[in-house]
Amino acid sequence: MDPKKLFIDQRFVGVCSYCGASADSRDHVPSKILLDEPYPQNLPVAESCTVCNLSFSASEEYVACLLECVKHGTTEPNERFRPKIAATLNARPALSARIESAKSISESGSPIWNPESDRVLEVVLKLARGHIGYELGIQRLDDPVTLQVTPLPVMSEEESQSFFEIEPSAIYPEIGSRSFINALGGKATAYESWHVVQESTYAYAVDQGAGDWVKILIHEYLACHIVWD
Ligand SMILES: [Zn+2]
Repeated sequence: MDPKKLFIDQRFVGVCSYCGASADSRDHVPSKILLDEPYPQNLPVAESCTVCNLSFSASEEYVACLLECVKHGTTEPNERFRPKIAATLNARPALSARIESAKSISESGSPIWNPESDRVLEVVLKLARGHIGYELGIQRLDDPVTLQVTPLPVMSEEESQSFFEIEPSAIYPEIGSRSFINALGGKATAYESWHVVQESTYAYAVDQGAGDWVKILIHEYLACHIVWD
C-alpha cells in the first residue's frame, strides 16, 4: 500500500488543512525552509489554499531564520549558520533587520531575544494541524486549548523529560489512518514514538490520548506542545 495515498486522505481532498477553504495547492509539513538538504524522501504533505500557503511561507522563513540567529547569538550569518539560512538572511536585509530589532543585550552582555510571538505561534499551529491531519486523518480548525512554545534550554529537567516522554496510548488508531497502517506493519506508530523527519532538525509526535495533541521539536531547540479538547 502506498502510504502517501490512503483513503482517509480522500476525506479532506480539496479542503485547506489550515482554514477549511477550498484547497488549490499542496504544502510540505514541515516546509523545506525548516529542513536541510538533502531533503528526506516522502515528506508529509497537506492540502492548502494559496492564501494560507503564501502567508505561512513568509512566517516559516521568519521562524527558520530567527531560530538560527538565536542559536548563534547574532543576525550576521557566519560559517556555523545553516547555508540556506545564511543565504536567505543575506538576500533579505529587511528580514534580517526585523529579527535584529527583536534583539537586545543584557547587562551581562549576552543577547536577549523578544521575537514576534504571534508569528511563531502561527507557524507552530500550522505545523500541528498539518501533522495531525496527515497522521490521524482529522482536521482541527478550532483553537487549541494549549499552544506552548518553549526553548529547550530554559526548560527544567522535569519539563523536558515530560516533553520527550510519549505514553503509549490505549486508543486504537482509526482504520485506514497512517498510524493504523504502521501498527499493522509492526512499525513504531505515531501513537508510540517520535517521527524523526530529519535527525537533529525536525521531529514530531501525535496522539489522541487526553485530547488530540501534537509535540514538535524544531532544530533541537524549540519544544512545541499543542493540545485540542
Ligand atoms: Zn487556507
